[in-house]
Amino acid sequence: MASRGCPHGCHYCSVTTFWGKSFRYRPIPEIIEELKTLDRMVFFADDNLYGNKVYAKKLFKEMIPLKKKWSCQGDSLIANDPELLRLAAQSGCQWIFIGIESISEKNLAAMGKSFNKAKDYKVNFRKIQDAGINIFGSFIFGLDGDDATVFKNTVDFAVDARLDAANFYILTPLPGTVLFDEMKTAGRLLHTEWDKYDANHVVFKHPRLSSEEMLDGLIYAYKRFYSIPSISKRMLRPGNRRHLQTFALNFGRMLRAKRFEMICRN
Ligand code: SF4
Repeated sequence: MASRGCPHGCHYCSVTTFWGKSFRYRPIPEIIEELKTLDRMVFFADDNLYGNKVYAKKLFKEMIPLKKKWSCQGDSLIANDPELLRLAAQSGCQWIFIGIESISEKNLAAMGKSFNKAKDYKVNFRKIQDAGINIFGSFIFGLDGDDATVFKNTVDFAVDARLDAANFYILTPLPGTVLFDEMKTAGRLLHTEWDKYDANHVVFKHPRLSSEEMLDGLIYAYKRFYSIPSISKRMLRPGNRRHLQTFALNFGRMLRAKRFEMICRN
C-alpha cells in the first residue's frame, strides 16, 4: 500500500467511512525501498492508487527503473490524464481494477459517483487499453434506477467495450455508509445477517426488482460474460499484450460459474 483512503465519497462505499476523508500516502523513497524487496509482480492494495495525481506521477516516475509489473485499483479518471497514463504504463502497470458500477448517468449521480462519465466510458477505456493496460471492470446491480433490462444491457456494454475481465455485484448497504443509513431510515433493509452482506446476496428491497430477479440477473451476467463467445471477443482485442493472463483469468471464471451460482443461492 502506498496510500490510504480515497478522495471520493461514493455513497455505497465503506472506504471513506472506514479510513476517513483525508487521503494520505507514504513517502515515495520508503515505497521504492519496499518495492525493491518484493517479487517482480506487485499488486498495490490501495483503494485508489492515483487518487492524488501529483503524488502518483512522482511515484510512477521513481518506479520506472525498478522494471516491476504491477496492478492496482483506481478510478476511471486516469484516462483523462495522458501523462499519468503514460507514466503508469512505463512503470509497468498491467491491470487496473476500475469501479465502473453503472452505465446509467442517473444511477452514477445518485450514488455520488458522477465523476464516472458513462457517455465517455468506451473512449476512455480504449485510451487505457491503447496505453497497454488491461481493464478489470466492476459493476453493481440493484441501484434504484435499475430495472429488469439492466442485466442484459450491462453485459452487452461490457462485452462491446471489450473489458478484459469484469466483476458483477449486488448493491450492498454496508454499515456506516450513507447508503446504509438511507436504507435503514426508509425501512428497506430485509435483515441484518451480516454474512449475507457480501455483494452476492440481496439484503434490501428494490423499488422495481424482486430479490429473485436481482439474483437471477447477477448469475445471468456472470455466466454470459464468462461464456465462450464473450471470452473469445475480448481475447481477440487488438493490442492486448496479456493473452495468457486474460485467458487464464476468464476461463478460470467460466469453470467456476456453477460454484458462483451455488454461493449466491445459498
Ligand atoms: S472511488 Fe472507489 S474507493 Fe473511492 S469512494 Fe468511490 S467506490 Fe470507494
